[in-house]
Amino acid sequence: MAEVESFQLDHTAVHAPYVRLIGVETGPSGDAVSNFDLRLTQPNETAIPTGGLHTIEHLLASLLRDRMDGVIDCSPFGCRTGFHLITWGTPSVATVARALTDSLRAIAEDVTWEDVPGTDKYSCGNYRDHSLFSAKEWSTAILDQGFSTDPFVRTPLAD
Ligand code: ZN
Repeated sequence: MAEVESFQLDHTAVHAPYVRLIGVETGPSGDAVSNFDLRLTQPNETAIPTGGLHTIEHLLASLLRDRMDGVIDCSPFGCRTGFHLITWGTPSVATVARALTDSLRAIAEDVTWEDVPGTDKYSCGNYRDHSLFSAKEWSTAILDQGFSTDPFVRTPLAD
């Protein structure tokens, strides 16, 4: 089976929340595509319940695109401790961490239920499983810790 970088990471050695560059791939036409590990909670200690994670996912789809260029996709890890972010080009970890911090702040402080995209049976595959309450609670708790730009040594995002 193909070796995948994410499974080589020692998940006991990291200190969440953090943003980590997993890798950059270059396509046949020379376009660079970056893959980031957006780790919101500490692996094997806490995981975000599906309702809150699902609502954060729907909101990040718009909020991140409003705050940085080149977003291709942002999808949750099955372990529910964070997200993959795939982008065009090579944005810095700090750029991603800033956009993510700003997005979670919007979720915690500003977003109302009417702002959440895709909350009916036509626009979501499991529309009953959303919780804006949970999304706000988890966003607040994650922001209290702040995103590190180094996964192994807590390095708070500079202002
Ligand atoms: Zn959905």
